[in-house]
Order: sequence, then C-alpha cells, then structure tokens
Amino acid sequence: MTQHTHNKPKSGQVKEITSAANPVIKDLRALSQKKYRDREGIFLAEGLKLVTDALDLDWVIRTFVFARTALDNPLVAKTAARARAAGALVIEANNKVMEAITRRDNPQNVIAVFEQRWCKAETMDFARQTLLLGLDRVRDPGNLGTIIRTADAVGASGILLIGDTTDPFSLEAVRATRGSVFAVPLYRLGEQKFLDWRRSFSGMVVGTHLQGAVDYRQIDYKKEPMLLLMGNEQQGLSDNLAAACDRLARIPQAGQADSLNLAVATGVMLYEMRRNHLTLDVRS
Ligand code: SAM
Repeated sequence: MTQHTHNKPKSGQVKEITSAANPVIKDLRALSQKKYRDREGIFLAEGLKLVTDALDLDWVIRTFVFARTALDNPLVAKTAARARAAGALVIEANNKVMEAITRRDNPQNVIAVFEQRWCKAETMDFARQTLLLGLDRVRDPGNLGTIIRTADAVGASGILLIGDTTDPFSLEAVRATRGSVFAVPLYRLGEQKFLDWRRSFSGMVVGTHLQGAVDYRQIDYKKEPMLLLMGNEQQGLSDNLAAACDRLARIPQAGQADSLNLAVATGVMLYEMRRNHLTLDVRS
C-alpha cells in the first residue's frame, strides 16, 4: 500500500463506464460540435495539467473522466477527489471510451467538462487593463489557441473576439492553449458592438496591416492600457476596424512570403508591446 492510497476514489463514488454507446458518453462526444457546446455552455479539456490548472483557477467542473489505467496514479486520484468535492460526476472509463470522447488515438488519461466563461466588454474596468488583444474573425482554432497561450505568456489582460470567430472552447483550440484558456479573460462581440465599445476606450489602439505605414518598432508602447488589433487570416483587418485604429503598424519582411502567419505576427507584436515588462525574473 502506498501512502497515497487514501486518495483513491471509493467504489460507489465513481461511475464505471465501458461502452462508448453509453448515453453519458454520447453527450460528452457531442461536445466536439459547437452547437452542443453553445447550447449547454460547457466544453471539454484533456489532460491532468489542464484540469488541475482549471480547478486552481476556480472554473466550474461538471464531469471528470479518468482512464482505468490511471487508477493507481496518485495525482489522478487526488484530482478525481477534488472534482467530486466540487460536485462533478466522476467516471472511470476504459481506453476505448477515452478515445471515443476525444476522437483520437492515444488519448490523455484524464478528460473533464467545464462550464464556459465569457466576460462582458460593457462592464470592463479599464483601470485594470494593461494590454488587450482584439482578433478580427479569427478562423483557425490552432491559431486562436496559440494566440491565447502567447497572450497569457506576455501577461495580456484579455482577448476580444470580434465578429464570427472560431470557438476558443473547441477541442483543438483548447489543446493549443495548453491551459492558458483558463487564465486569459475572453470577450466576444460583433464588429458594431466592438466599434461602440472602442469609443469608450481611451488607450491607444494599434492595428496591424500589410499596408501599415509605420514600422511596429517605431511606436511608443509605454502608456497603458493599449489594444492590439489583428486581422483575419485571409482578408486582414476589415476597413471599419482599420479605421478605428490610432496607428496601423507593419512588421517588415524580406523574402517571398507575402505575410506572416497570424499567430506569429501576434507573437511578434505582443512581445514588442510588452518589452519593458518582461524580464527573466518576471515570475518571481
Ligand atoms: N491576405 C491578408 C491581407 O491582405 O491582410 C493577409 C492576412 S495575414 C495572414 C493575417 C494578419 O496577420 C493580418 O491581418 C495582420 O494582422 C497580421 N500580419 C501578418 N503579417 C503582417 C505584417 N508583415 N505586418 C503587419 N501585420 C501582419
């Protein structure tokens, strides 16, 4: 007996499921579709790190599923106990069921369902903002997840998803955030709502544009809050959004590429804008 055995979920506290046809599992599988995520206001997160990150940040957990093979892992057992104490349904599943829920081979040994969390731009406290990021109709879930992760890394205070964007709570986007989806406040609003909101935002708005007249390194980013606006992967920033910017910046390029990937361009901009805040001992 190991010293951790007391954390093991006791039988009766855990529902054991061995069939992917079980209605509970069917409901979890449906969460790969946006319409079910939207209807229920919930989403899936995979992996022990993501789930513990979310619990540490007080996200509301509905269901915790762990692989039977992870039963002896003390950290999994401890997290199952935490999830149960938070009111979640705890399920022990076999590998087939884990694969069915995540729709991939070699699934993680932990999956959880959390309630989505959206913030309201209308009630944003500007005094608490440092650097906000606005994304115009971002389409690619991998780009969005990577951008959320990078925004978290530079200490951005929130992301505004403008217009018809890909869902930050899709499996692919959540995977790409590596847990940062739980750390960065997310706002969603249509273009007109954003333009209305922008009128009340007194900080500098910097847009990025392939026709931008200013080298992004020539702008003074010292005064906060600031808002960085990034354009759609195919069409760039809409004319209305570009017109709402105080500065339109361009990242110089050599070579044949006509533009940078959206997530890469966002990373370049965010790091430049946060240059004076980020030092190697910033976490201490
Ligand atoms: N065909 C699009 C266009 O004409 O704008 C290309 C869009 S680019 C793939 C996606 C977004 O990344 C752009 O809207 C802009 O926000 C940013 N971006 C990419 N390369 C950039 C550069 N060299 N300078 C400024 N922004 C850039």
